[in-house]
Amino acid sequence: MAIQSKESYQQSELYRIRHSAAHIMAQAVMEMFPGQARIAIGPPIEDGFYYDFELPRALTPDDLEQIERRMREIIAADVPYQRQVVSAEEARHLFTDQPYKQELIEGLEQGGADEYGEPLDAKPEISLYTQGTFTDLCRGPHVERTGQVNPAAVKLMSVAGAYWRGDEKRPMLQRIYGTAWKTAEELEQHLVRLEEAKRRDHRKLGSELEIFVFDDEVGPGLPLWLPNGGILIEELERLAKEVELKAGYVRVRTPHLAKEDLFLRSGHLPYYAESMYPPMELEGVRYYVKPMNCPMHHKIFASKSRSYRDLPLRLAEYGTCYRYEKSGELFGLMRVRSMQMNDAHIYCAEDQFESEFMAVVGLYHEYFRVFNIEKYVMRLSTHHKQGLGKKYVDNERLWLKTEDMVRRAMVNGNVPFLEVADEAAFYGPKVDVQVWSATGREFTLATNQVDFAQPGRFDLAFVNQEGKEETPLCIHRAPLSTHERMIGFLIEHYAGAFPLWLAPVQAMLIPIADRHVGYARQVQSRLKEAGLRAEVDDRGERMNAKIRDAQKKKIPYMLVIGDREVEQEAVAVRLRSGEDRGGIPVQAFLEQARQEAEERR
Ligand SMILES: [Zn+2]
Ligand SMILES: [Zn+2]
Repeated sequence: MAIQSKESYQQSELYRIRHSAAHIMAQAVMEMFPGQARIAIGPPIEDGFYYDFELPRALTPDDLEQIERRMREIIAADVPYQRQVVSAEEARHLFTDQPYKQELIEGLEQGGADEYGEPLDAKPEISLYTQGTFTDLCRGPHVERTGQVNPAAVKLMSVAGAYWRGDEKRPMLQRIYGTAWKTAEELEQHLVRLEEAKRRDHRKLGSELEIFVFDDEVGPGLPLWLPNGGILIEELERLAKEVELKAGYVRVRTPHLAKEDLFLRSGHLPYYAESMYPPMELEGVRYYVKPMNCPMHHKIFASKSRSYRDLPLRLAEYGTCYRYEKSGELFGLMRVRSMQMNDAHIYCAEDQFESEFMAVVGLYHEYFRVFNIEKYVMRLSTHHKQGLGKKYVDNERLWLKTEDMVRRAMVNGNVPFLEVADEAAFYGPKVDVQVWSATGREFTLATNQVDFAQPGRFDLAFVNQEGKEETPLCIHRAPLSTHERMIGFLIEHYAGAFPLWLAPVQAMLIPIADRHVGYARQVQSRLKEAGLRAEVDDRGERMNAKIRDAQKKKIPYMLVIGDREVEQEAVAVRLRSGEDRGGIPVQAFLEQARQEAEERR
């Protein structure tokens, strides 16, 4: 599995090229606004680089062209990058009229932050990089000379607003994004990938295919599912229920809100309060809409006495949760404020943990197969000592023990995984599952979390074989993620051309002339009776226009009906790819299609 780590990217030639291109761009911008441009930071990022500026006016697309032209001249001059170590005093003197640099120098001097304002363990040395007339506060690394940046492989992409230090109370700067590669071909391929991503964008396809909408009066981040989206949801839930039934889950239902006491006990208040909606008060009691389903499932576990014979107990619910995401962070279906989660909580004894955990990993694999997800990685997120008692439950012994249990289970089960420190949930280590769509875009879909804290907080217990009370472990899992995130992913993964079982309309009947409409309706009812979703296009349009429209809606089967089909009790089958399968008897089509949908091929 080729996953480039952050460290190896930082040591790559591409990183040096992009970092150097950012400096070249900054020089060009400063020359464009002599004495007026204030420069902030300009790091390399995935696929490119950016630089933040405070300028006397807003940049236009024409400006970007002019900046690009000047960049080519700087590259052609082939001047060297020179590094110099200076004292904080010298650095301050050099950047007298650059307030953002002054702030960064102060951070470097105090230690604890690098020149991008990112946290840093050691106190860094203050260094400068100079190319020609431009000097930047910079740790490097760079290429040796500007000529090593390929002018045919650099492109400025866009300008966007960005708050200084990401803080909405600080000034809004102009951020220029650029991309840089080693060769013109690589740049070209990157641009093609971007085009393809735009074509598959779930926000664009979601509205074209009438899957979901957002409405101002309903509120940001609160999607409304249209009938086509409703079908996708029903089909996903049907899949989940089938799979979970076989895997020994039982289904429960819980309310959308609960008293403050519940979330105090669970630890969501205060650990998770920032992500919760504010409370509402009723009869002197504060209620919160739930950010997670767990506390209510714990209450169901606690609703009667349990013995080891009841374990593992696997409680499943497609639960609706509400989380407060900042307006600026909302993004289509990927970041929303209301979400329906493929949730379940597994309560088990310690010696059942490994097999339960691996059974959950097995579910992930089953879903990957159904959705043709070929590339994925599991990321084990662990705690960090410094966060104990703050963002993590304060019990180091249990953290180390459960992290070790998960690690061992993954190693024993031959599951490829990466380990990242300091990204765990507040009540235990978690495994995030990242998947790649058909076009190679990365999504974080699902999490699998181990919880050693909440069962204790809820006084959950079972009587073990020795007749003694014991606290169960809890596994939180959501392999199909939330409907919002999953459907957002699937739209992009399939570019809207869903497999038959998921397609909102599975077959469009296309009568050639008015006299064929009656027969088309008969075929439609036969298909419906067989459980297939079929519609009739009885508009007075020409056949080719109807076929084109059905293709645009990405309907898997178009069934054309003319005199011959009526006579032979047949349909002429066309696929959305344009393939013409010719005429087949209605009964034969119906059986094939039903089987294809049932097997979720
Ligand atoms: Zn730099
Ligand atoms: Zn949970």
